[in-house]
Order: sequence, then C-alpha cells, then structure tokens
Amino acid sequence: MRIAILSDVHSNLEALNAVVEHATSQGADQWWCLGDIVGYGADPDAVVDQVRKLGAVTVAGNHDWAACGLISTRQFNRHAAQAADWTSKHLSADNTAWLAALPLVERREGALLVHATPSAPSEWHYCMMIEDALEEMDAFTEAQCFIGHSHYPGAFEKEGEDIRYTRAAEIRLRQGRKYLVNVGSVGQPRDGDPRAAYALFEPGQGLLRHVRVTYDVETAQKKILAAGLPPFLASRLAAGD
Ligand code: ZN
Repeated sequence: MRIAILSDVHSNLEALNAVVEHATSQGADQWWCLGDIVGYGADPDAVVDQVRKLGAVTVAGNHDWAACGLISTRQFNRHAAQAADWTSKHLSADNTAWLAALPLVERREGALLVHATPSAPSEWHYCMMIEDALEEMDAFTEAQCFIGHSHYPGAFEKEGEDIRYTRAAEIRLRQGRKYLVNVGSVGQPRDGDPRAAYALFEPGQGLLRHVRVTYDVETAQKKILAAGLPPFLASRLAAGD
C-alpha cells in the first residue's frame, strides 16, 4: 500500500495535476487529502472535482469552511478573505455541499488525519515549534498524525520524552515512536521552494517520503490574475513563500 498524502491544494489545478501524475508514477494506490482544497487559486471547482474523482479520504480545512460559509473570514488576512469571498461565488452548489460535509478528523491505517492540530481541530492553530509539538503529541494515541495548514513540510518525532524535528526527505517510522508530520502544501508552498509538496506513506514498510514536484506556475499565476484575485496570490507562487 502506497498512500499519497496531499494538503493545501488551494485551488491550484496545475500543481494538483502535477502531483497526481507524479504520485501515480510512483505507484500511489490510495489518496488522503488534509484540507484547504480551495481558497487563493482560480480553479476551486476543478480541484474539488479532481479530489472527489480520486476518492481521497478527506478532512476539512479552514479555507474550505470559509468558502461554504461555516466560518467567517474575520480571522483571515485581507488577501485570504478576498479569495474566500471569490471562491464561495465560484463553487458549484454540489461541491459546496460536499466541502461542508467533510469531517474534521479521520483515522486510517493507524494514523490520524487533521488539517490544523489534533488537540483542537476546529481552532485552526499552527504547530510550528517543538513546544507546540510537545502538547500536540499528547493529543493523539495513533503512531502517526498527518497535518497541513502551515504549508511548511517537516516532521516531529517523539521517542520517550524527547522530541526532534526533521526536514529529511525520507523518514523511517520506528516502532514505539510517535510522529507528527506536516506534508506541506500542494498549491501554495511557503518554505522558499516553489515546487508542489506532498508525501508518500507506506505503512507496511514504515516509510514516509516528502516529495517535491515542479509544475506550470506561470499558468496558475495567469489564471489568478485573469480571475481578478489579488496579484500577490500569483506572485508568491513563483517565490514559494
Ligand atoms: Zn492552507
């Protein structure tokens, strides 16, 4: 079993298509999606259609909830709020209903899936520091928890009372240790690398790989500008920040 774990697609169809093609070439036979399918980019309906077509096990992100009106955009920055309003107007009724019905957490293959944090899935907190991870590790009993939200790929590993953080591309998942893994963002990476990020998880082999894939950034940018979305949302894709 080889699972492709995607998060934070953010309506970027070019990035999603590149990741699906790459993961398929790597033998991915299952798909998990950690939310924020929409928001920021110009193809909300097309990316939701694609995630649905893949049959991905999917949890909701804050941008999905904002697009369906389940949370207000008052906590969002100006660009995010503008994009959320635009997205809600450009999603089909069927896709809006599908997003609104997504759960906040899922459990599969002994792993927990959540967009933001396991301790408070609907609070949309970030888990960036060792101190955050210390608290979050106590919030789940599974061996692995997969998250997105920060758009920053990496993994916290807990052995006994020790917690380490690693950005290694390949991680051997050891028995008796706990892992909190951020798979990064497909459609709007923010770690300085503009390539789309996702992860390949092989539970049977105890193996996790962070993967980066180049995609057609220029086309995604042109669509954002043509849609009248904030130009910053296009320019940041080239910088990956
Ligand atoms: Zn996001």
